[in-house]
Amino acid sequence: MAATIWYEKDADLSVLNGKKVAILGYGSQGHAHALNLRDSGVDVVVGLRPTSKSVDYAKEQGLEVKSVPEAVAEADIVMILLPDQYQAQVYKEQVEPNLKPGAALAFAHGFNIHYGYIKPTEDHPVFMVAPKGPGHIVRREYTNGRGVPVVVAVEQDPRGDGWDITLAYAKALGALRAGAIKTTFKEETETDLFGEQDVLMGGINHLCDMGFDVLTEAGYQPEIAYFEVFHELKMLVDLANEGGLNKARWSCSDTAQYGDYTSTVINEETKKRMEYQLKRIQDGSFAKEFMDDQAAGAPKFKKLQEEYSHPHLETVGPKLRAMFSWNNQEDADADMAESFNGKIARTQVQ
Ligand code: NAD
Ligand code: MG
Repeated sequence: MAATIWYEKDADLSVLNGKKVAILGYGSQGHAHALNLRDSGVDVVVGLRPTSKSVDYAKEQGLEVKSVPEAVAEADIVMILLPDQYQAQVYKEQVEPNLKPGAALAFAHGFNIHYGYIKPTEDHPVFMVAPKGPGHIVRREYTNGRGVPVVVAVEQDPRGDGWDITLAYAKALGALRAGAIKTTFKEETETDLFGEQDVLMGGINHLCDMGFDVLTEAGYQPEIAYFEVFHELKMLVDLANEGGLNKARWSCSDTAQYGDYTSTVINEETKKRMEYQLKRIQDGSFAKEFMDDQAAGAPKFKKLQEEYSHPHLETVGPKLRAMFSWNNQEDADADMAESFNGKIARTQVQ
């Protein structure tokens, strides 16, 4: 069955007229949602802890900022853009007690609803607008007149207007310029976790670092190894983004293609492991392990972060990246500034 995809013409922004949207959090996604919605003419209030460094930053950008309980109390739509592991506690203590009757709850990732860490009462519409890209790109594309695609879902629809609100929100975010694909909280959560842990990060990150180890342990120069197993990845990904795997393959030599087709590294055993990881996502054991560790002060997470904080590739990474003039372009600087703001927010959390 073909996916349902919505565009600009399918949504009516006036659905949001007279409605107040509270954006909780001003990190990667939060700043992009708040600014894009505001620039689309939506009445936005940002909800933050009064001690957060982001308060001044959001105010400087002309946004109204209140405490989380105050922002929630006046909102018709509450978009929760806090780190996933803190959402349930903030919801219980500061959101739920202050929610207006019938106010809609929104998310950019289905994790807390799907695994039942947040259980809104039936009178609240619950929807998702999940950008398929980091927040600073969501903002940059909007200001450039384009948009980052989103996946959208409605989990609770007590009044029957859930999809109208969801699509209007996605349009205000600029996302319908690119398109919104219909999904469910279950599908988005499980596939998002699978993608990041088994292909995009848990797959690629380890693959590159291990490839670097194999070459350097065999006596090759680390600088050469970095180029061969890491640097060229971006160019292949860019080609694949433009024209799929066929374009990436077409652009490579026949020698490279033949090596690709005959390599034994990714094999049926890898597929079995992926299926095993997917089971752990589907039965909730990955979520439980992550959330239990977070609730205990994240000892395992912090240990792993420390353990992985010196990728072997990075022994030569900074030196080689300094050779690339395009890393100094304005776009890259702007991206860094935005991410840095996200980082500040992140470190304040505990
Ligand atoms: P983030 O860590 O960048 O920002 C979180 C924000 O929440 C910060 O402003 C922080 O100060 C604030 N915050 C943290 N604890 C708080 C508390 N107790 N009270 C009030 N504010 C608090 O988070 P993010 O990466 O933008 O993720 C937000 C949501 O968006 C998550 O559900 C995530 O899964 C989803 N998402 C993220 C991305 C991405 O690329 N970063 C992409 C799609 C979806
Ligand atoms: Mg994702």
